[in-house]
Amino acid sequence: MEMDRSGPPKGNERRTGLFGGTFDPIHLGHLRCAQEVKEAFDLSQVIFILAATPPHKLDRPIISTRHRWNMVKEAIADNPCFTLSDVEIRREGASYSIETISSYHRDLKEGEKLFFILGADAFCEIETWKDYPQLFTVCDFIVISRPNFDPLQAPVLQSEGFTKEDPGDRFLHPSGHFLYLLRVTPIGISSTGIRRVVREGRSLSYLVPKEVEKYIAREGLYREVKHSL
Ligand code: ATP
Ligand code: MG
Repeated sequence: MEMDRSGPPKGNERRTGLFGGTFDPIHLGHLRCAQEVKEAFDLSQVIFILAATPPHKLDRPIISTRHRWNMVKEAIADNPCFTLSDVEIRREGASYSIETISSYHRDLKEGEKLFFILGADAFCEIETWKDYPQLFTVCDFIVISRPNFDPLQAPVLQSEGFTKEDPGDRFLHPSGHFLYLLRVTPIGISSTGIRRVVREGRSLSYLVPKEVEKYIAREGLYREVKHSL
């Protein structure tokens, strides 16, 4: 995947990617995408941020934060560049990315640069997020490709005054921050699909890491449509 990524890190610049999600459960699509972003942008770390109470998903039951947390932990255990943050769990109430990004931004160390990572599907509906115009003024964004979603159709590209740059995968926001479109290996796995596979009694092999597959079986997760919190 060749593209300009605002050049190599300058000096000792440390690049951190924030990758938020419900991770209900984490799957190989999340992990492979995170790995490809890390390599493409020369990130020193990717921080998975578990949404405790995703504001968009209040319409369906989500399994407990504890189970989702444990599964992400197991899934990233062997990768020293991947970490898991409890910042949204510690905060009361709904999880809003603007608060998360701003708090990481406040705590940035000298020479550290932040990137917020999200999939094309999430980007296409980002105008439903709290204070979304402000999001692009805090840090750079990396939108990763996802099968069946076209990030170029995202309404915010127009409404927020982004300017397309050559070769077309980088957009400049009026704040001076960049938004990058990154083509990653298309992986048609979703947590929704995983939950369905379990409900139907089929195998999770090659959709989630082995440890996550074992965890789901051990804890009996996703067998019923409804889960107690
Ligand atoms: P659900 O089906 O429950 O919405 P999901 O698979 O979309 O689950 P999320 O936890 O909602 O997983 O996603 C977290 C982030 O990862 C989002 O920004 C989403 O766009 C991105 N993402 C998830 N799966 C993929 C994938 N297969 N390819 C690219 N991006 C993905
Ligand atoms: Mg999703």
